[in-house]
Amino acid sequence: MRYKKNIIVLKFGGTSVGDKDKIKRVADKVIKARLEGNSVVVAVSAMGDTTDRLIELAGKIASSPSRREMDMLMSTGEQVSSALLAIAIQEKGYNCISLSGQQAGILTDDVYSNAKILNIKVDRILKELKKDRVVVVAGFQGVNIDGDITTLGRGGSDTTAVALASALKARYCEIYTDVDGVYSTDPNVVNEAIKLETLSYDEMLELASSGAKVIHLRAVEFARKHNVILHIRSSFNDIEGTWVMDDYKKDERMERPLITGVTYDIGEAKVSIFGLEDKPGVAANLFGKLADVDIDVDLIVQNVSEENFAAISFTVKNEDLSLAKEVLNKLRNIRIEVDTDIAKVSIVGAGMQTHPGVAAKMFKILAEKDINIEMISTSPIRISCVVKKSRIKEAVKALHSGFGLAK
Ligand code: ASP
Ligand code: MG
Repeated sequence: MRYKKNIIVLKFGGTSVGDKDKIKRVADKVIKARLEGNSVVVAVSAMGDTTDRLIELAGKIASSPSRREMDMLMSTGEQVSSALLAIAIQEKGYNCISLSGQQAGILTDDVYSNAKILNIKVDRILKELKKDRVVVVAGFQGVNIDGDITTLGRGGSDTTAVALASALKARYCEIYTDVDGVYSTDPNVVNEAIKLETLSYDEMLELASSGAKVIHLRAVEFARKHNVILHIRSSFNDIEGTWVMDDYKKDERMERPLITGVTYDIGEAKVSIFGLEDKPGVAANLFGKLADVDIDVDLIVQNVSEENFAAISFTVKNEDLSLAKEVLNKLRNIRIEVDTDIAKVSIVGAGMQTHPGVAAKMFKILAEKDINIEMISTSPIRISCVVKKSRIKEAVKALHSGFGLAK
């Protein structure tokens, strides 16, 4: 295809298009990319906290509005920002068109409010690029097979951008946001945090899933699966950000740092269930019931059973807590305890795969600060510990310096 080699996709988040002046600045960035000889496709989020305000508004009318209507409602935020950006680009004298998710050919499944992109029919976008237009696509939305508007889950505009980049075979996908890139930890907690130049998809996935808010998890999964190169950078300056691509350090395994980043998450609660029968199928039933209502369970710990009874603890997102309790309360002969005073700290690094003793070192650093560990979970490149919420910043600081990540 004639245009493919020059296509790039740029994504601008809600803070980047927060007001009219910011939209004009984004227009300048887009035009700059255009003048550098690229065919430019842009995906935008809704302005500022528009989506939150729309959800709040619906909440004042109904306590649980239907998900279909919520998608109809929420998708308007991105239509506003995409049209305004197109107007801003046109005003500066450049050819530009905005497209809704449907016009951009984004087909999803019909899970309202959390839809997955099935396919993007790129004909329309390619046609517009051929007319030498910049194409601005409303992020976060698509349509199901019936033509009903769906949204991709909170933060879903990142996924729109990555999916567009994949479907258009773009050279790369730039995620413009309000920070300069991905840091070794939250710079608001640790001053000495350093910006990471390059990450593998696996590292970015673990960082995003364990608390780094800079990019939507599903977007990274999509990028990994389809090999879309990502560049996460600031929309407020021209500084090079963080590149995410396939295992970039394969050839220099020795130099790989043990730990790439420290993340934390204060958005989860711990649920403990006591008095479960210790027999096959109990966990399957329990977590099956939670899965049925789309609740994501994170850490899980099962305790040794006493007299044929087991206890299981797990964490869920705070916003899923009341639904989880509702589901679990239907189970008989068990006791439920909820602890919202917890937080999760994680260390992530592809280097730990080839180094023993990383977990021991993490536990030792926490022990030296007298921080108690309540739950532990690991992946090949991540170790997470649940601790008291009040100790989380201390834990992050100690691990960041303990593993030598500071400047
Ligand atoms: N506007 C949507 C949200 O706030 C999607 C996005 O920002 O990516 O979740
Ligand atoms: Mg947003």
